[in-house]
Amino acid sequence: MRVRIIVLVMLAGLLPCLVVLFGAEKFYELRAVELRTAEIQNQCTILGNQLDNYSYLTDPTSEVINANLAQLTNIYNGRVMIIDRELEVVKDTYSLDEGKTDVSENVVRCMMNGETTNHYDRKNHYIEVTSPIFEPGGEDVIGVMLASVATDNIEVTRQIILTQGGIVVGIIMIILAVLSVFTADRMVRPVRRITKGIETVTEGYGDDVLHVDTFTETRKLSEAFNKMLGRLKVLDESREEFVSNVSHELKTPMTSVKVLADSLLEMPDAPVEMYREFMEDIAKEIDRENQIITDLLSLVKMDKTGQTMNITSVNINDLLEQTLKRLRPIANKKNVEVVMESFRPVIAEIDEVKFSLAVSNLVENAIKYNHEGGWVHVSLNADHQYFYIKVEDSGIGIPEKDQPHIFERFYRVDKSHSREIGGTGLGLALVRSAVIAHRGSIKVYSSVGEGTTFTVRIPLIYVAA
Ligand code: ADP
Repeated sequence: MRVRIIVLVMLAGLLPCLVVLFGAEKFYELRAVELRTAEIQNQCTILGNQLDNYSYLTDPTSEVINANLAQLTNIYNGRVMIIDRELEVVKDTYSLDEGKTDVSENVVRCMMNGETTNHYDRKNHYIEVTSPIFEPGGEDVIGVMLASVATDNIEVTRQIILTQGGIVVGIIMIILAVLSVFTADRMVRPVRRITKGIETVTEGYGDDVLHVDTFTETRKLSEAFNKMLGRLKVLDESREEFVSNVSHELKTPMTSVKVLADSLLEMPDAPVEMYREFMEDIAKEIDRENQIITDLLSLVKMDKTGQTMNITSVNINDLLEQTLKRLRPIANKKNVEVVMESFRPVIAEIDEVKFSLAVSNLVENAIKYNHEGGWVHVSLNADHQYFYIKVEDSGIGIPEKDQPHIFERFYRVDKSHSREIGGTGLGLALVRSAVIAHRGSIKVYSSVGEGTTFTVRIPLIYVAA
């Protein structure tokens, strides 16, 4: 990034400088040539008029004219030739071509049309001008004056412009280089600080947050990063807590099994009844361990929602009936009455397995945390957008302070009570994951000693994320 900024700034400076330099040089050259051409044409016209007066074309010995011609050639460092109607060179200030015939294009054109021509030969540095000589007092062209003038001094000035301009451009480039290195450093510094900050975070979450407020962009980047960092910290903490909870929960039944087995081993003569009793306890603990593992697996599966949702159109009334039918024997054992009330037939797009797991967890809890002879009401209703399930019980209720936590993994209101009733503390976490996976919501209303109501709202049509 640093090198790119430097190169960009240098290019941005160099290009206009070069355009200005070469533009100025070109402009000077065109203007100088134009002026020089005009001057020579002027001189030629004046001299041409004089030639008529002295009948120079027939007798090129006039000293006045020759002196004028010599002066013209000296001033402009050039050569002048006077050519008559037969295209014969009457006078050549270099005395090289006198008596020869000149049929160059410009001369012929000037002779035929009586028009002044000029030509700039950039390569060989000279300007050539032809000017017609008219018959005295008439319109007929009787000869042509051909003047070629060196443009060496224009060339010299042009070179000076280029050299001096080049030096100025060079100085500008040096200043720009220093400035661009400085600017690039200033621009890159906050990015470096952010990178360093991120590296520190990669080594482990510290309490440091990024504060790079140099530019609006870096401030926004820092804020976004801090937000992400905060979220990662929360996730990390909850993961750590989860792992420690899982380990603890999985260890508890194992510890009981170990204690039971050790007690038996220490009593080689223990009666068979005792063995049976202890083995039953061991079997219970193993069942519990199994239940925790099953719930954990369901929870993990539930968390990977997007990929694993298996959405179909399901008759919710039937689903509820079947769930209640499965749970009734447990309810009967506790002498709890389970009633279902359906306000209308509901068909919705859901993942049947996940959703029925959620419903059965809710109803199971309503039975589990109930009194002998209590009741559980399950009702189903719907509008044009959602369907609603209400699971109401006459059970022990949940204290207000615990209500916000009951959906957390492994959270139990009364550890000893729950343990005696059985349960892993994962049931409601599972329910919540399933509801969220269906883009729904769940609420709890409860008062201790009176009962608890869970209401679930799920969209009739599943919308993928
Ligand atoms: P568990 O496996 O212990 O039932 P859950 O996640 O299903 O775990 O429930 C968490 C806690 O919420 C339970 O331990 C219990 O204390 C309380 N709870 C859940 N449902 C009810 C209910 N219907 N009535 C009273 N308490 C409940």
